[in-house]
Amino acid sequence: MGTYVTISVPAADADRLDQAVPDIKQALEGIEAALSIFRPESEISIINTNAGNWTEISPETARIIEQALEYADLSGGAFNPTVLPLVHAWGLHGAKTPPKWLDDEHLAPLLKLVEWRNLEVEHNRVRLKEAGMQLDLGGIAKGYAVDVCYDLLYSRGMTNVMVNLGGDLRCSGGTERNPYWIVGVRNPFNRNQIIGRLMLSGGDAVSTSGNYERFIELNGRRVAHIIDPRSGYPVEGMAGVTVLAADSITADALSTALFVMGVEESTEVLDKQENIFALFVPDMQPLEIHLCRNMRTRFIPEPAYKDSVRIVQ
Ligand code: AMP
Ligand code: MG
Repeated sequence: MGTYVTISVPAADADRLDQAVPDIKQALEGIEAALSIFRPESEISIINTNAGNWTEISPETARIIEQALEYADLSGGAFNPTVLPLVHAWGLHGAKTPPKWLDDEHLAPLLKLVEWRNLEVEHNRVRLKEAGMQLDLGGIAKGYAVDVCYDLLYSRGMTNVMVNLGGDLRCSGGTERNPYWIVGVRNPFNRNQIIGRLMLSGGDAVSTSGNYERFIELNGRRVAHIIDPRSGYPVEGMAGVTVLAADSITADALSTALFVMGVEESTEVLDKQENIFALFVPDMQPLEIHLCRNMRTRFIPEPAYKDSVRIVQ
């Protein structure tokens, strides 16, 4: 997945963790082998090659695809697991020629292929209805992997634990003195600084989608690796979105979705959701931190950013 996993437990659990490490490695390797679009033999790549026809897949992969469709529905298509033709067109997964700005005429035929309602899934098979459609679980796979690691560790008694897969993280436990894990939220404009801290416990998961970790330069503009599947254009105007949820797959999918939707549209969706907390940093100066719903009970801004906080609701 192009990143590192960090697992933190108290020293008393060091031996237990050592014993679990081979199983964690195997689980992560299995997820990557099934879901990677960069491996021609992965289940996802075979589904893509087979577009137009049914492909038999494992029930686990079918379940992840079902969940991806639930988040697509929830976000009105802002999260779209069939976005890959657009991702490729914009050169966001590495292009052979330098990417250039595309127009509506170029994007129109691709938009027809980016239609999550044309992705069908049953308990062990899946079909992209149209030839040329392509599945990409990049907006959800890391979150899923964190949940798998977390469940594995938790079920082996490591109930005071944090799993961090390149910024998608989940934790539970804490110490007597401090019942929370404290996690910094990075300043999207300065990776050496944080804008505040989140207090996490009880299996809370956090994911951030940003335009600073992975982006390309187009026409002198910094363009995120996240596409608005409704327009076909890369998202502009947002620097970072952090979502806190009850599990990592939800946090991961929704950080991508809310990044696309922006503050106002996100608020409408979040109003209907229990236990989803969100923080937005628009791509503008001076920096503003928009906190949704009950995020203010979990987020402590750094003193320098106290006056930058806006409560949206
Ligand atoms: P994340 O870093 O979790 O926000 O996921 C970003 C990745 O998800 C990108 O690298 C693409 O592979 C994929 N992606 C881009 N735009 C979307 C979208 N609108 N919906 C779902 N996945 C997307
Ligand atoms: Mg995500």
